[in-house]
Amino acid sequence: MSLIIIGFDKQTSKDLGETGVEQQCVWCSNSVFYHLILIRTWFSYFFIPLFVYRREYHIKCPSCSFGIKIRGNEIKAAKRGELSLRANTPVRSNEEPKKTD
Ligand SMILES: [Zn+2]
Repeated sequence: MSLIIIGFDKQTSKDLGETGVEQQCVWCSNSVFYHLILIRTWFSYFFIPLFVYRREYHIKCPSCSFGIKIRGNEIKAAKRGELSLRANTPVRSNEEPKKTD
């Protein structure tokens, strides 16, 4: 039996700027402009990132780094600066990515 190490998924995040709507953070209660964060997961081969196979958008509180994953129309609204928070599944965008092997 041989062990072949191909590499590990690499995640990069990019801050796309403020969403434009000042809101009270559901976590730290500060009035903040949430930032739109693009998180890309790369397929890598021998530790060289080759291509992105997953894109996720989160909004993130600049004060406490609390993040919420958004999708679909929420992303469009966030890019237009019109996203207002609704009940959603809160996740921390600075959390370690889950390994799904
Ligand atoms: Zn906050």
